[in-house]
Amino acid sequence: MNINDIKIPVPFQFTMDDVGWIEGRVPYWDGFQPTRTGIPRRHVLKDYQAVNEIGKLAGMKICGMFVLGDWDKSGILAKVPYSNKLGKEWKGSPYIRESNSVDKSHPECTPEKFEQELYDIRDFLNSATNLEMAYHGLLHECWDDNGECMSAEFVPPTDFKAGDKSKRGPAPEWYVRAHLDAFLEIYNEWGFKKELRAFTCPGHCLDAWKDGSYTKILKDYGIKYWQEPYITHTIYENDVMLNNMPGWIGFWEAYDINPDKLPTYTEETAGIICTHWPNFLRLDPDLNFENLPKWEAFFNRQADVFGIIISEDIAFAHHQLLFRNNCTLEAVDGKIKIDCSKADEIVPADFDAPIYISVKNGTAAFECEGGVMTKYSERKGHTNYKIQRNGKNDIYLKRIDK
Ligand SMILES: [Zn+2]
Repeated sequence: MNINDIKIPVPFQFTMDDVGWIEGRVPYWDGFQPTRTGIPRRHVLKDYQAVNEIGKLAGMKICGMFVLGDWDKSGILAKVPYSNKLGKEWKGSPYIRESNSVDKSHPECTPEKFEQELYDIRDFLNSATNLEMAYHGLLHECWDDNGECMSAEFVPPTDFKAGDKSKRGPAPEWYVRAHLDAFLEIYNEWGFKKELRAFTCPGHCLDAWKDGSYTKILKDYGIKYWQEPYITHTIYENDVMLNNMPGWIGFWEAYDINPDKLPTYTEETAGIICTHWPNFLRLDPDLNFENLPKWEAFFNRQADVFGIIISEDIAFAHHQLLFRNNCTLEAVDGKIKIDCSKADEIVPADFDAPIYISVKNGTAAFECEGGVMTKYSERKGHTNYKIQRNGKNDIYLKRIDK
């Protein structure tokens, strides 16, 4: 077997930041407002449905990083320090039950109808097959005692005062817990049901991933996967796996994107790709589904790259990144050895996720020693295989002699 015909492919996984805002853009940018999604309209059920349909086309559960502050109907944020502009005076989301916030472009939508739509969104999310719900934040930013925006939510300045951004994060434990507790309280109050297991800091976390202080807290909230830009290597600590999230799909506030004009990724640029909710949406939500064939073509383009595999969900992506970044291929005695020892040093003894490999089509028949190999998917020029190892051993691929 030729070593160049085999790869441990990079997973291609979408996370989607900032899903959950009720209002996409406030009509003024006064420095006190959170960034939101940038789309100049209210978000509707079709915005969630479109993403779920796009995930289906890829065979991927898109990992939705949720902000839930707009869903706070009972004033939970009033007790969460630095979580909102009004502090203790916060009475709950202004976007629920206030007639003046109902989308002027949809005069038929009354506050009552709108609240019903939120319950419809909840029901949809609870059963959506290809859209995962994950922790992002409350209102994405944090505000000081004067109502001035300080920074992104999980990297506040150490003195909790707006102005000097050089003194930011990681936040103290009480702060992180208060914000995650409130997230869960809103989540449970509405009756969201999905397991929450992933996290990305709003606005990203600077160096906060480095000292281990956050993972000790995150694990108490069921978080198993944490992805951020600039994480240099796979880390497993406090039952949380951390991996790099290398890139953006485009401008964060861009909507009406033409998927045909998005790039074809490479082994170097693929991985966990951070997208932003409006990137999948149209200004007119009735058009949200128009580009589905183009999204399907987009995913097919990525999947046909030898060295990329479409990820099923955020767990698949983290596990495959562990192997991709820490296993080596080596030609030994006419076999290809996949040395997993470095990966095994990172994860606990009972970690047993499968490893996926890609093999160029036309390669002579081969078998696998050290694991159970099954064909996973066929692409234009290569075939993907799933290998479940028999424990912590290396894998050998060997040509079957006729
Ligand atoms: Zn965000």
